Amino acid sequence: MKPDLFEAPDYYNLDDLLTEEHIMIRDAARAWVKRDVSPIIEQAAQEAKFPKSIIPGLASIGAFGPYIPEEYGGAGLDQISYGLIMQEIERGDSGVRSTASVQSSLVMYPIWKYGTEEQKKKFLPKLASGEFMGSFGLTEPDHGSNPGGMVTRFKDAGDHIILNGAKLWISNSPFCDVAVVWAKDENDRIHGVLVERGMEGFTTPETHNKWSLRASATGELIFQDVKIPKSNILPGRSGLGAPLSCLDSARFGIAWGAIGAAMDCYDTALRYSKERIQFGKPIAGFQLQQKKLAEMITEITKAQLLAWRLGVLREQGKATSAQISMAKRNNVEIAINIAREARQMLGGMGITGEYSIMRHSMNLESVITYEGTHDIHLLITGLDITGENAFS
Ligand SMILES: Cc1cc2nc3c(=O)[nH]c(=O)nc-3n(C[C@H](O)[C@H](O)[C@H](O)COP(=O)(O)OP(=O)(O)OC[C@H]3O[C@@H](n4cnc5c(N)ncnc54)[C@H](O)[C@@H]3O)c2cc1C
Repeated sequence: MKPDLFEAPDYYNLDDLLTEEHIMIRDAARAWVKRDVSPIIEQAAQEAKFPKSIIPGLASIGAFGPYIPEEYGGAGLDQISYGLIMQEIERGDSGVRSTASVQSSLVMYPIWKYGTEEQKKKFLPKLASGEFMGSFGLTEPDHGSNPGGMVTRFKDAGDHIILNGAKLWISNSPFCDVAVVWAKDENDRIHGVLVERGMEGFTTPETHNKWSLRASATGELIFQDVKIPKSNILPGRSGLGAPLSCLDSARFGIAWGAIGAAMDCYDTALRYSKERIQFGKPIAGFQLQQKKLAEMITEITKAQLLAWRLGVLREQGKATSAQISMAKRNNVEIAINIAREARQMLGGMGITGEYSIMRHSMNLESVITYEGTHDIHLLITGLDITGENAFS
């Protein structure tokens, strides 16, 4: 793979909207990605292996629990810092960002928000340091966009529960130490349950043959009469709103992360277009190529503004789920379109692993599907503005 020469576009001087601390945190993450992710990520993706060697580095840049308080091992940062870290990681690879998003927003967040003090002390510091890796089990084979229909269930058995069911498409599942699993009780009420590796009847087979997010491990969570102490149930919140609140946090991170992938594709195409000579001049001098680049930077700038404003609203506790949906949907869409255009600008070279664009392009096919599909987010906006439910 070519050396990582990334230079971040900032067409509207958006750095002026950031604090010195934001810039310091972002630049540290950017430097780490250049040094520790870019040199190894192409091979990891080709081999379809999550590079576990980067786990300590992810922890060191605050990617595991950026906004979790320091008393629990988190970085104690604000929402914009969280977004910037996700942007920089996804600039390197969406699969690596997925690992960090799951750990932070889908595992640490629910334990922090809905867990007991004992659960927080047991799990959060180890998740923050990367000693423990977590996964989040909501999706099932027959319930993806409609998680409320889930059939994974537990029965009360005195001081413990017995869990049965299966979750599919679970990031980090093959190596997770703990899974936050959403399951129904005997009254059909959804609860979060902490399922730990080693519990009898709990297995995590890997899903192979992915053409997307190849550097992120995906698998199943299977529960066959798993005996779990009641102290592993998250008591703070039940009902579908509990997992959906975690998705809000993860989708916010995706809205920022997708900008990173888009920036990398744009920057690569811009540099290539200035160096590639055809018909006696750089292809950057042809109007058709300039149109592509001009549209890319316009969309990136709009996405940056959307993400920044959402960060401010989220920090103030004012961001609605529908606003987060809009940003996730828009920013992933612009990223996937930019990846496609950038790929074309590199001609045949664009399909090789010498450049990052094709990997981003394939990765974004998952990003546009997980954490609510592109269509589901549109329906969320539709419901929000009309008051009419078009889901069912
Ligand atoms: C790589 C990867 C990693 C993932 N990681 C996780 C994870 O860590 N944890 C987890 O719980 N899940 C995870 N997921 C699952 C992901 O969230 C689901 O794939 C997603 O929610 C869609 O569910 P589905 O695949 O079952 O598609 P379906 O729900 O079957 O949807 C199929 C199509 O139908 C459309 N559709 C569905 N309902 C409607 C409707 N009412 N109106 C109009 N169109 C509709 C959808 O938009 C989609 O286009 C992951 C998925 C992938 C691909």
